[in-house]
Amino acid sequence: MTGIAANLQTVRARIAREVQAVEPPVQAVSLLAVSKTFPVEAIREAAAAGQRAFGESYVQEAAPKIEALGELGLEWHFIGPLQANKTRGVAAAFQWVHGVERLRIAQRLSEQRDVHLPPLQVCLQVNVSGEQSKSGVTPEELPELVQAVAALPRLQLRGLMTIPEASDDDALVRSRFARLRALRDELNQRFGLEMDTLSMGMSGDLELAIAEGATIVRVGTAIFGNREADPAA
Ligand SMILES: *Cc1c(COP(=O)(O)O)cnc(C)c1O
Repeated sequence: MTGIAANLQTVRARIAREVQAVEPPVQAVSLLAVSKTFPVEAIREAAAAGQRAFGESYVQEAAPKIEALGELGLEWHFIGPLQANKTRGVAAAFQWVHGVERLRIAQRLSEQRDVHLPPLQVCLQVNVSGEQSKSGVTPEELPELVQAVAALPRLQLRGLMTIPEASDDDALVRSRFARLRALRDELNQRFGLEMDTLSMGMSGDLELAIAEGATIVRVGTAIFGNREADPAA
């Protein structure tokens, strides 16, 4: 077994253990393998070990990888910060976008999504960490954005995503995830929506996120190893 296949097995076991431990039982949790900065061969190894969904953060890096792996029929999630001049590439090559935080970006994605493709699956990124974090829409701004994005024709609003501030305080991190779930539930009820996705939890905190209802965990390091050449670092 390759290192990546063994790591995947370990991560899947972590997820399964936590899913079983949660009371009341939680729904299935999907694993998004975050392959940013890793080469096509690493993704092939993960795919050979049964992994289907991959996350990328940089359009220029991702486009050739997606093209090279086209015959595998993988599912691609864009999870990076998204500027207006990069939306076209995302709308063309990805099935999911996790980090939408501005209406302008969502509008462009909807306009640019080919009518022959299924709607782009979208999560809105929420800042549940207050001043400790700069990314994401504030909980106060969220209702307006949710309503506007839900109305866009070529997007399907699937839910919310967050990246809490880095912290060793498990109770604090967990409270951030709980907040995201509460916001999702509240907005579903208020606007009659069916947001089914909570994209939260990474290599270091996926158990905490699952305990609070994560439906997608985004895991990079624990599968592929440390990123030495992260363009964002
Ligand atoms: C890089 C990245 C991850 C993966 O983080 P790890 O700690 O390596 O698991 C998850 N989510 C987002 C948005 C990322 O940019």
